[in-house]
Amino acid sequence: MAKRASTIALTTSLVLAVGGALCLWSCSAASENADASAEAVPEGQIQVERYDHDVSDVLQGEQEPAKRNEEASRETSQTDGARGQGKAGAETPPSTGATSDAADLKAQLGIVEDFRPSLSHGPKTAAHQRYIVLHDTEGNGSPSSVVDWWDSNGNLVAAHFVVGKDGSIVQCVPLDEIAHHAGYGDAGHNDLYGIQEDGRDDMEGSSPIGAWAPDYALNAWSIGIEMVHMGGEGDYPAAQLEAVDGLIAYIDAYYGFESDIIDHKAWRSGNSDTSEEFAGYLRSYQSQRVHE
Ligand SMILES: [Zn+2]
Repeated sequence: MAKRASTIALTTSLVLAVGGALCLWSCSAASENADASAEAVPEGQIQVERYDHDVSDVLQGEQEPAKRNEEASRETSQTDGARGQGKAGAETPPSTGATSDAADLKAQLGIVEDFRPSLSHGPKTAAHQRYIVLHDTEGNGSPSSVVDWWDSNGNLVAAHFVVGKDGSIVQCVPLDEIAHHAGYGDAGHNDLYGIQEDGRDDMEGSSPIGAWAPDYALNAWSIGIEMVHMGGEGDYPAAQLEAVDGLIAYIDAYYGFESDIIDHKAWRSGNSDTSEEFAGYLRSYQSQRVHE
């Protein structure tokens, strides 16, 4: 993916790592940021990680999510979404109907459960669900190989789901547990997204990445989906997009309400994922919950 045009680029870097996933940021050493990104590739593959912290992105990001939150609030008030139930819904599991629908959808998708305890970082109920965060792996390994890599590299970083180019899906963290896929976000984003750091996230393996990105609540209030994709390598296959369609429908059914859909770079300005070729699909997901 070509770097975005930056009007006020504070920092720009391009890191090409061969032989394993590295997440290097120009404002921080890799060791400071195990939670910087769930992007990872199995050994032997190539990963490109880009970072350009752009003030214009911050400004854009401060407007769009807020608008989405307002819309979400209105939608919630008009439906039976669990969020609308407030604190009372904190320990309320999804309704029987939703659970049944969710189980059917999960079976139809053929989701392979491959839970890795080291990648779970705290409890997460339906009342703690607000966002579905979409990512690219920045590698081309199979979903199972991506999970193996996450579980072996010591960073403790993962998303709940990995969706392969062929539409296969592997889940490595249960929906009622926190995964470290979003990491630190821009200053003010906890408030902007209406979420709080409440101590449920153990924050293991996470280190601050800079004063510009101190907010850390999103992991504890979201579900992460990684799509196997290298930015700049072309379109997303139909099978993969259809699998993401189904996965979002499954998550909606599981919780009994529609979570807001964002990509990783909305949370942290300048992040590379999702790639530019996903932009049109992202808009479709945000407006109609399917890729087209
Ligand atoms: Zn990401």
